[in-house]
Amino acid sequence: MKYLDIDYNELDQMEGRRLKESDTFHFRCHGRLACYNRCCRNLNLFLYPYDAIRLKKALSITSDSFLDRYVDAVLKEGTYFPHVLLRMREADEGACPFLVPEGCSVYE
Ligand code: SF4
Repeated sequence: MKYLDIDYNELDQMEGRRLKESDTFHFRCHGRLACYNRCCRNLNLFLYPYDAIRLKKALSITSDSFLDRYVDAVLKEGTYFPHVLLRMREADEGACPFLVPEGCSVYE
């Protein structure tokens, strides 16, 4: 596991609107869209424990193996528990390791 140093203040300065707990949204993702397979690149993708469990099950690997191979941990100053991020590829514009030409290889 690699430890990264991320400035959380930058997250609050990002464009867009934060979703509230009561918000819902719908989207379609398919190969006829110009942005298809573009959004799964160069991300700070934080994982909750539920995400890690779903991904390790989808990959049929152990939690330890998933954490070793696919996760970076971030220790924020003044906190005791690390945040975990999916480790993006260094090449291929920082693509998600699960992105393939046909789309996401782990989620439907
Ligand atoms: S897990 Fe799938 S949907 Fe999520 S960023 Fe990776 S390729 Fe995209």
